[in-house]
Amino acid sequence: MRLIILGAPGVGKGTQAKKIASKFKIPHISTGDILRAEIDKGSEMGRKAAEFVHSGKLVPDEIILGMIKDEFKTEKFKDGFLMDGFPRTLEQAVKFSELLEELDMNLDRVINITVDEGEIVKRINNRLICDKCKKVFKLNDFKDDNLTCNFCGSKLSKRKDDSEAVIKNRLEVYKLQTEPLVDFYTKKGLVENIDGIGSENEIFERILARL
Ligand code: AMP
Repeated sequence: MRLIILGAPGVGKGTQAKKIASKFKIPHISTGDILRAEIDKGSEMGRKAAEFVHSGKLVPDEIILGMIKDEFKTEKFKDGFLMDGFPRTLEQAVKFSELLEELDMNLDRVINITVDEGEIVKRINNRLICDKCKKVFKLNDFKDDNLTCNFCGSKLSKRKDDSEAVIKNRLEVYKLQTEPLVDFYTKKGLVENIDGIGSENEIFERILARL
């Protein structure tokens, strides 16, 4: 199964992507996770990407495309993949189609999760991430101020780019640069639009019904 998951920041793409990847036993590649790991490591790529990621702007296409090409040099994606957060611009989508063609691979589906903007802002304001294992939590699930990860015990924080000002910027960037991809893939007959309002499991069931 070769899949892309699309949707604005905060629609629950990452959560659903993990569930789908685990169900179909395919690798989940999140460009946001890779970039955050590189920033934490302080690698050259991380240093180049940090100012873009922290301000909610897109990292330049050549950095992202280089990263994806490197990933596809490995055998890991031979039997399928789920791309989360990539492609994010038309340029990335076109280059990704070319790469897949070179590798003689076809996309099976593009899952597009939709949620209205008010709900997205609420969800992002409620999102916490573990400093160490990067698991995602909801602030309103905690009854006291002890915000620690129940998997590894580390401190939970807000993502730097989840602040109110940066969220606005990210939603703007999404509308301008990423939303056109819904059209791009609809024309290829690949898009499954999924209503992203409901419990995690309800949304997951909706997705499975379309795959
Ligand atoms: P995400 O975790 O998918 O919300 O991504 C967090 C941030 O990483 C984005 O706001 C961008 O700054 C950067 N990023 C992730 N994926 C891409 C991509 N495909 N192209 C450009 N920037 C990206």
